[in-house]
Amino acid sequence: MQILLVEDDLPLARSLVSALRDKGYVVNHVDRGKLAITALNTERPDIVVLDLGLPDMDGIAVLKALRQNDKELPVLLLTARNTIEDKVAGLDSGADDYLAKPFDMPELLARLRVLERRLSSVRSTEITVGEVSLDPVHLQVTHRGEPLELSRREYMLLKCLMENAGRVMTRAGLESRLYSWGEEVASNTLEVHVHHLRKKLGADFIKTVRGVGYRIPRQ
Ligand code: CA
Repeated sequence: MQILLVEDDLPLARSLVSALRDKGYVVNHVDRGKLAITALNTERPDIVVLDLGLPDMDGIAVLKALRQNDKELPVLLLTARNTIEDKVAGLDSGADDYLAKPFDMPELLARLRVLERRLSSVRSTEITVGEVSLDPVHLQVTHRGEPLELSRREYMLLKCLMENAGRVMTRAGLESRLYSWGEEVASNTLEVHVHHLRKKLGADFIKTVRGVGYRIPRQ
């Protein structure tokens, strides 16, 4: 699950990033509205956590810009302006939820789980390619009907490739789904995950596209 955090309060942002990464989320952080819009044009996070009071533009304006291109992306607003008018403005502009500062971490995590559940009921369709099936609700992968043990990153990599079966996924695109910005990634890490997946799924399931990335052929 990939989260874009838009928050200019850096101590708060740092503690959110570290708490969310501890829970297994991939978290990318920006501290300006314009950077958020740029990030949203290049990445597709699963959830956006958006502070309303940003130094360069209002969070509501960021939200409106985002909603022009994407009606579905779940957005949780964070704000110190805890008036009814602000809440209504946020929700009317297309936010899915609203959390007033200061808040406790367990509450933020619970709200994120609600958004995630909503997402997984939308994306609940099992994906099957050849003899491999992936169930995004139970995070289960089976090969010829047998459940497989995958690490979290192996699962995320396989899911991304299976969702895009038939298409070539670039190395950079795959790495951005697996790792947060600035996270140390050894240059051969992606190959290592692919190697492990091939051991579990058979050598031919994931094809290497030399110099570009990987592809799972449609079957
Ligand atoms: Ca702020």
